[in-house]
Amino acid sequence: MTRQSVVLIGGGLVGALLARLLAKRGFAVDVFEKRPDPRRIRFVRGRTINMAIAERGMQALRIAGLAEHALLKSVMMRGRMVHPLGGAAGLQRYGLDDSEVIWSISRNGLNTLLVDAAVAAGARFHFGQALTAADIDAQRITLLDENNVQRQHDASLLIGADGAGSALRAAMHLYQPLGIGVEPLGHGYKELEIPAAARNNRFAIEPHALHIWPRGGYMSIATPNIAGSFNVTLFLPLQGPHPSFDTLPDATTCSAFFRRDFPDLYPLMPRFADDYDGHPVGTLTTLYLDRWHIDGRAVLVGDAAHAIAPFHGQGMNCGFEDTVVLADLLANCGRRTADAFAQFQHIRKPNTDAIAAMTLENYVEMRDSVADPHYVAKLELSSRLTQWAPDYFMSRYRMVTFTLLPYAYAYERGRAQNQLLEHLLHDCPDPRRISADVAVATLKAALPPLPPLR
Ligand code: FAD
Repeated sequence: MTRQSVVLIGGGLVGALLARLLAKRGFAVDVFEKRPDPRRIRFVRGRTINMAIAERGMQALRIAGLAEHALLKSVMMRGRMVHPLGGAAGLQRYGLDDSEVIWSISRNGLNTLLVDAAVAAGARFHFGQALTAADIDAQRITLLDENNVQRQHDASLLIGADGAGSALRAAMHLYQPLGIGVEPLGHGYKELEIPAAARNNRFAIEPHALHIWPRGGYMSIATPNIAGSFNVTLFLPLQGPHPSFDTLPDATTCSAFFRRDFPDLYPLMPRFADDYDGHPVGTLTTLYLDRWHIDGRAVLVGDAAHAIAPFHGQGMNCGFEDTVVLADLLANCGRRTADAFAQFQHIRKPNTDAIAAMTLENYVEMRDSVADPHYVAKLELSSRLTQWAPDYFMSRYRMVTFTLLPYAYAYERGRAQNQLLEHLLHDCPDPRRISADVAVATLKAALPPLPPLR
């Protein structure tokens, strides 16, 4: 029997992992990627954004047989190291112990690993080939290479993993409206860097944490690289009153702002001026689509279907979860790809909508709440309830980050648990004075036990 052909647009993180999974399932996979081969790109300072891999992403990598390889390129992060202005930094653990951690890995390092693995499984990559149009009826795509040479390619089964600005999505939308909704966040980001400490490539600050400098309407974060440096990301409103990227157009204005607002961070960045002036401001949006596919001919996956902001560190993790679901459905549908695509959207969309909502809430939490006493009291009570009744209480962050419970479940359960925390703290604002018996009885009266985690 001839192998079913799949044409994948985009060989980024999601596209390359999906290529590996489909090739392993016996599909003939061709990947067309706009950029050059990531395995041949030299390290570009300040453009190597780090990704945090959480349990969902790790599970997809396990299924692809790549988790161990990814771990070798990663640095463990146990929690958030919060740096208040004028106070001492403190670690807020993400999970209960070192079995609940996230992993920092360079985007390019991970992409290289995934492309190598997809090629090893038999996928064919065509780099420097951008999709410019797709004729859905004729089942043919148009590609443009780096020398501006155009060509056509047959594509009876098309998958768009070409990211938030997806060209395939635009072509599908021309053919049949997809119900596209885009919500700009109004905030942008800029990449900076803390280099490895001069002696022995040592880390300049605690390596096993995601560092946050929350400042109300804005913040900086830093994630460790295996070579000893940290990627720093400044998140600010794009426009409006100071501070915004409008009021901080260059390194000169921004240096003064950093010295005042991030006094412990600024001295760690000797190349601040070059980085600030040399790197673009990235914009952040949430993307919602009513339809992810056109019958059995074309489907979107990852950011192309549901881009979110990075504040829960879940965009890639969520896209990786997509790849496992889609590869399974395609491998088991015979030639009924329309059913597989419809089922894919049916399973994933409630979950991607939920992580989009939780991501926006997490931004407020990261930049404002982590330093707020009521929030800290809620964290404290959460951790007590987790110890007193582990079968009934798990923080939403832990459900999203360390389990495979559907995002939609985590969202709903998190909402109900939050109401309970507010109720208990309303009666007694100091979590240390809340009785375990009363709290657990109230919890069990309000909510059923958690489902099995595996
Ligand atoms: P992309 O990574 O955007 O890949 C799309 C690919 O398609 C690219 O290689 C692109 O070159 C290619 N392409 C585009 N157009 C065409 C075309 N016309 N023809 C052919 N190829 C094309 N997620 C996490 O889970 N954890 C994190 O810690 C995290 N941190 C983040 C930090 C920042 C600052 C940002 C902006 C995002 C972060 N994310 C994180 C989100 C994550 O980056 C995305 O969700 C993830 O990259 C999506 O993967 P993708 O393959 O769908 O899209």
